[in-house]
Amino acid sequence: MIEDVTHNRADLQFGQGFAEQLGDVRLSACFMCRACTSVCPITRLNDSFNPFRFVRLALFGYIEEVLESGLIWFCTNCYACQEKCPHGVRIPDLMTALKNLAIKTGYAPREVLLQMNIVKDQGRIYPIDEFDNKKRGKLNLPSLPVSCEAVSTLFNENSE
Ligand code: SF4
Ligand code: SF4
Repeated sequence: MIEDVTHNRADLQFGQGFAEQLGDVRLSACFMCRACTSVCPITRLNDSFNPFRFVRLALFGYIEEVLESGLIWFCTNCYACQEKCPHGVRIPDLMTALKNLAIKTGYAPREVLLQMNIVKDQGRIYPIDEFDNKKRGKLNLPSLPVSCEAVSTLFNENSE
């Protein structure tokens, strides 16, 4: 579990510790070729989003800046960067770890938290309530469950 990792200045030792906590993400294997950036579909739309920079900032310990920028939420986890990287740096895993960290440390946008709570409570990405079920009934469609204990349990187990 990644704990107490927010920082607002360069700290190589701290960055190395963060990289090690991510496990087999291979951040330190990055040799700055920028192939990841060249194939990222989000970079094509927004040049502020740069996977190569996320790798370097994480390695140098600039975690708080990365989380504050909110840019991590543009990553679609498409894996194009990882497939192109000649050194097998697992950037999508880094992005997922940063998103998880943003949620734990209060940097996640409100919209993300709302969506997360719908998934957690109902096990789906859009909410269903009794009003929706009444409308379904009028169309002779079966009611849908308004909660999903299995998914809620998964969330609770992984947040401990
Ligand atoms: S493609 Fe891999 S080695 Fe090249 S800059 Fe990106 S992460 Fe670093
Ligand atoms: S996984 Fe994220 S960072 Fe990598 S290419 Fe896709 S959108 Fe870009």
